[in-house]
Amino acid sequence: MSGTERAAGGGTERAAGGGTGRPDALYERLVAFEGRSAATAGTGKDPVNLPMIRHWCEAMGDTHPAYEGPDAVAPPTMLQAWTMGGLSGHTGRSSAYEELFALLDGAGYTSVVATDCEQEYLRALRPGQEIGFDTVIEAVSERKTTKLGTGHFVTTRTDVRADGELAGTHRFRILKYAPAARPPRKRETRAAETRAAEAGAAERKPAARRPRPVVNRDNAGFWEGVAAHRLLIQRCGDCATPRFPWLPGCADCGSREWDTVEASGAGTVFSYVVMHHPSFPAFDPPYAVGLIELAEGVRMISNVVGVPYDKVRIGMPVRLEFLRVDEELELPVFRAGGED
Ligand code: ZN
Repeated sequence: MSGTERAAGGGTERAAGGGTGRPDALYERLVAFEGRSAATAGTGKDPVNLPMIRHWCEAMGDTHPAYEGPDAVAPPTMLQAWTMGGLSGHTGRSSAYEELFALLDGAGYTSVVATDCEQEYLRALRPGQEIGFDTVIEAVSERKTTKLGTGHFVTTRTDVRADGELAGTHRFRILKYAPAARPPRKRETRAAETRAAEAGAAERKPAARRPRPVVNRDNAGFWEGVAAHRLLIQRCGDCATPRFPWLPGCADCGSREWDTVEASGAGTVFSYVVMHHPSFPAFDPPYAVGLIELAEGVRMISNVVGVPYDKVRIGMPVRLEFLRVDEELELPVFRAGGED
């Protein structure tokens, strides 16, 4: 499969090179790294073990019983975790990956961003198994221009073995790029906003409407609650475990019976990210996206309002309110400073 992709990529690049009148000598050197090893016969620092599984599950909030007890298996998504080198690095690393990075750095592609990860699981990992892995530079793309800038995508593939048998494959893709110059349009927009605000036109016209929520038979009750200014959390009819977002069944016991409890509205910021890029119509970056832990114990993603994006902090108390976004849409959001 990757062979086909490489052939297609090479063809595109040659066409592009012809268009600019100069062949891309750099790409010829980059593509020579495809198939070279980045790590050979690497070994996991620890065998698959229950403490790491427990920490992972706690961080993820995953309480599935398959990951506990004497017959526990590891969550499949931990695949990469077993191969991580930590601060002291991997054994078995080759210099190819560093050489490739040096080549890209030298060509001006000095920034790096992880773009995506694909994993394939072949068998469950069990405590006690020894981990081995090999990593290969699978693909280097032709030169691509993205909103971030121009550069090359680099894909590495790690085959992970447990007690010598292939257990899964982890593909990791990064973009090494030269940042695009910031478009001047942004500054003009800001100046226009300032003028509008000064003129007393506080209601700036949004560039686009916010995306509409997808309302279906599984979550319709939630949105009915929002319309009535009630934040409703599902509660399992059998084991009483609260859950959010709304789902047809209980992840703890499998029951399809449920009722709802109304959130008190008290919560804290459990985690957050600040969105700078990519920008979406109707959103004006940078802005903070909060993972709010409600007093009832469930977490939901929402906006934190009433505080600048760079003043949002983990543990910050927040309180529910309903934001009227436009004539059709209201959303539950969380106002900072709930205990001040
Ligand atoms: Zn249940």
